[in-house]
Amino acid sequence: MTCQRKFVVEPVFKNGFTLFRLTSLDNIEGLSYGIFGRSGGVSPKPYDSLNVAFSTGDDEKNIITNIELIRKELDFEFIASCNQVHGKKIVVIDKDFPLRPRKEGPIFLGDGDAIITNLPRIGLMIKTGDCQAVILVDPVGRVIANVHCGWRGNVQNIVGEVVRTMKTDFSSNPENIIAAISPSIGPCCAEFIYYREIFPEAFWHFRINENHFNLWEITLSQLIEAGLSPKNISISGWCTRCHPEYFFSYRREKRSGRMATVVGWRG
Ligand SMILES: [Zn+2]
Repeated sequence: MTCQRKFVVEPVFKNGFTLFRLTSLDNIEGLSYGIFGRSGGVSPKPYDSLNVAFSTGDDEKNIITNIELIRKELDFEFIASCNQVHGKKIVVIDKDFPLRPRKEGPIFLGDGDAIITNLPRIGLMIKTGDCQAVILVDPVGRVIANVHCGWRGNVQNIVGEVVRTMKTDFSSNPENIIAAISPSIGPCCAEFIYYREIFPEAFWHFRINENHFNLWEITLSQLIEAGLSPKNISISGWCTRCHPEYFFSYRREKRSGRMATVVGWRG
């Protein structure tokens, strides 16, 4: 299976940030998004510099400053994020959701690995260091989702669950949904020596050699199975582990920051 829209996007350097733009998202009216690399923040080594995850060992003040820089860059009123636990809990922010903004820092949504909303002005943030952030946009129903999908997310088919929730809660038609997969660990580096124990057999044909897997293709196949059109799915094509100049990578460094992928509707 190959994606029609797969290509390696060149980074854009803006206001100190390294941003990865995907044309499929650039053409959606009213959408603001940022797939950020590691540059443009205030955190010192080894979190240099746009670290957005509190659990890393970095100073909390730096993380709050970094998230505020992102919020301003994308022009949102709030940034909302979850405590990501490699599960498949989905947080749905609709008009009945009790949003509790804090004096500083992002709105905390509790445990979860995916966020869906149809409300404007809120940037949904997923934090990654090798895992995929998967942006899903229904431009017709004006619904967006941001999904944290590592290999455990693939095993649980979290992207399929999110598409189903967009259908049931917001009447989204999967054929209209546009998807983008962020920089994340590539087939060059996604080695799973014990794959027989952790992956279902259905994944085994996504191996590119003895024990390296193409996780991008796994997510792609799950999105297509959920009803998305291949032409609506973009993969950034960047491996986070191979490019320390642009990305944090947990596999490469262990002690490192996490990058932000943020999406939302403008007011
Ligand atoms: Zn690699």
